[in-house]
Amino acid sequence: MTSGRHPRRLTTPDDFVGAGLVGRDRLEELEAVAERYAIGLTPALAELIEPGDPEDPIARQFVPDARELIRDPAERDDPIGDDAMSPIKGLVHRYPDRVLIKLVAVCAVYCRFCFRRERVGPGSGALSGPDFAAALEYVREHPAIWEVILTGGDPLTVSPRRIAEVTEALAAIDHLKALRWHTRLPVAAPERVTTAVARALIGEGKTTVVAVHANHPRELTDSARAACRRLAAEGAMLVSQSVLLKGVNDDPETLIDLMRAFVEARVKPYYLHHGDLAPGTAHWRVPIARGQELMRAMRARLSGLATPTYMLDIPGGHGKAPIGPQWIRCGENGKHVVTDPRGIDHAYVDSLGRPANVGPSPSPPQQHPEQSGADELQ
Ligand code: SF4
Repeated sequence: MTSGRHPRRLTTPDDFVGAGLVGRDRLEELEAVAERYAIGLTPALAELIEPGDPEDPIARQFVPDARELIRDPAERDDPIGDDAMSPIKGLVHRYPDRVLIKLVAVCAVYCRFCFRRERVGPGSGALSGPDFAAALEYVREHPAIWEVILTGGDPLTVSPRRIAEVTEALAAIDHLKALRWHTRLPVAAPERVTTAVARALIGEGKTTVVAVHANHPRELTDSARAACRRLAAEGAMLVSQSVLLKGVNDDPETLIDLMRAFVEARVKPYYLHHGDLAPGTAHWRVPIARGQELMRAMRARLSGLATPTYMLDIPGGHGKAPIGPQWIRCGENGKHVVTDPRGIDHAYVDSLGRPANVGPSPSPPQQHPEQSGADELQ
């Protein structure tokens, strides 16, 4: 996008001030943050910010804040343990059937809560030719690898020609069946997600998946939706990724609107991430119990198609785990207790076996005042 209030990408504290996104009185604060972490914002997302509203959910994601320089003792430079699981440069092998390849370290926008904030930025460089060749060799030598996830940074920021080369090289590996690209570009710079880019992602005989990162329904503009449609039209499967963020999307209405916006853009809601323990991000994190409440609220009003899974990346590189909420638990007398989307408990007899060990001992069942069906717990 080259027109409107923000004709070019903002890359310095002065740019943010000059664009009217923060007052000049905060320039020093922004400079201090920018010395430590990469900053950047595209016109497409800058246009969505309501000037003068410090609580604007788009501004909160991209405008630097002095709280980023405060480090909680629990926070880590490498919160999800990429380094511990990296056998060669730029490749992370955490699960037997898939690897990450970090193609580039740059992004179109720099999210203030980024889990790889210690690793991303303009000076950090792309994976060199020999390093990418070594990553390919690693994948070739490990026949159990079924999926490669291209990440970074934002791998869609490279040229369409480079994307096509990467796709072609990976598509030539027989045992590899799925290529997944993690990106924020469809919302950050939808005009760059051209049909040529969409075609470059498609590998002969492989399934291409694009995981689209957005956190607020306003990010799914008409242009962003059109970018997603271009990806889908060329044959990519689209899934979503969002981070649960205080002051951005930690309420049921926003999350429901976000998940519906994804589906309307042909993106299947996939993961709602609990915020990682990245340095200087404590002011973003939401308690897990609150995240579970929000998941319950979403499940009560959204179809399964529109409901994501709430995930925690276990610090230290131990992988992701779905963190609830729990819908079923062991009850008394061989019965399970299962909770419906309205929060009402029901008994369920598993006629094929003993109750599974699915959770802690049951809390007293609750009954909805208007319910009296035979299977509901009294
Ligand atoms: S686009 Fe992704 S990698 Fe880049 S700053 Fe945002 S969260 Fe981090």
